[in-house]
Amino acid sequence: MRFTSKLNQLKDMKVHNFSAGPSILPNEVLQQASRAVENFDDLNLSLIEISHRSKNFIAVMDEATALVKKLLKLPEGYSVLFLQGGASMQFTMVAQNLLKAQNGKAAYTETGTWATKAIKEAKLFGEVDVLASSKDKNFSYIPKDYSVPADVDYFHCTSNNTIFGTQMHAFPESSAPLVCDMSSDIFCREIDYTKFDLIYAGAQKNMGPAGTTLVIVKDEILGNTGRTIPTMLDYSTHIKKESMFNTPPVFAVYVSMLTMRWLDQNGGLSWIEERNRAKAKLIYDEIDNNPLFKGAAAIEDRSLMNATFLLSDESKKEAFDAMWKEANINGINGHRSVGGYRASIYNAMPIESVNVLVDVMKTFTQKHG
Ligand SMILES: *Cc1c(COP(=O)(O)O)cnc(C)c1O
Repeated sequence: MRFTSKLNQLKDMKVHNFSAGPSILPNEVLQQASRAVENFDDLNLSLIEISHRSKNFIAVMDEATALVKKLLKLPEGYSVLFLQGGASMQFTMVAQNLLKAQNGKAAYTETGTWATKAIKEAKLFGEVDVLASSKDKNFSYIPKDYSVPADVDYFHCTSNNTIFGTQMHAFPESSAPLVCDMSSDIFCREIDYTKFDLIYAGAQKNMGPAGTTLVIVKDEILGNTGRTIPTMLDYSTHIKKESMFNTPPVFAVYVSMLTMRWLDQNGGLSWIEERNRAKAKLIYDEIDNNPLFKGAAAIEDRSLMNATFLLSDESKKEAFDAMWKEANINGINGHRSVGGYRASIYNAMPIESVNVLVDVMKTFTQKHG
């Protein structure tokens, strides 16, 4: 009897974590990670106190790399790296590794805060042609009316604009190398990843803890710039040493590997995409059908990962905030540049938690509508 009530109590205390990043990870991944911090592989040593060159850790790095290739269905010719410095470091690494030293020129789309930051860094190394921007409407949509010139060193886009809740559902044709910041939607859906020449993603949105950045690069696009690149910022350095040029972020790589294992064992990207679409439909249907709410992003560009929405009557904010907090919902305040709310429903978010949020929205309208 006491045991059951304790269990129920625990269940009642469950927090529904809609945080935009760092964000939710699968429960079983957190449990396995906790065990490995105490005793990794029955070595009676912690994962975070053994050499990164031990055979046990090398096996982790190898499995993580293999899982990326398997999940994204990448053929030969791509290198997979686990680096540090966050996705933000990639803003500069991409430019340094791909922009020609002489008359270098890159094309970018400006679809949000992160894209803007990427553009700023690239401009330090060459000419940047901003092909399209949605800044005119506070980045609430994905521009589509542009084409990628053939004479640029690469084209850079952001697949999911975490802050604004927009996502690219199609990618333009590009004869120049296609580079994509997939920080907040990597592994969320089945698309043809071989269309891309370079993909990067900070781990802490949809893959693992903060501390590592996944980089996937087609080897043949490297080494053509005629530029001297600092050793640590040169992809070739890390490719040659299989992400072990210096000490890799062992914990972040391990937990990312566990998350990919979880994805793989459950059915891979087709499985997660179906789940993600069901979750997104639940929340967007409520936003569209509930008179007290309205979506913040253009409907056709809505993100599967970050659903942004606003109250139609701001004076009801206090009442709504009190209700979701009461329901143990965490992290749905919108980014300060958009306001309102943002429900981040990354891969690990269970549909049950989305149902809790939808129920709160329905109840709110019954009481205050
Ligand atoms: C969070 C985020 C970043 C920045 O990631 P850091 O790892 O903090 O540098 C870049 N791009 C996108 C799309 C993001 O969501």
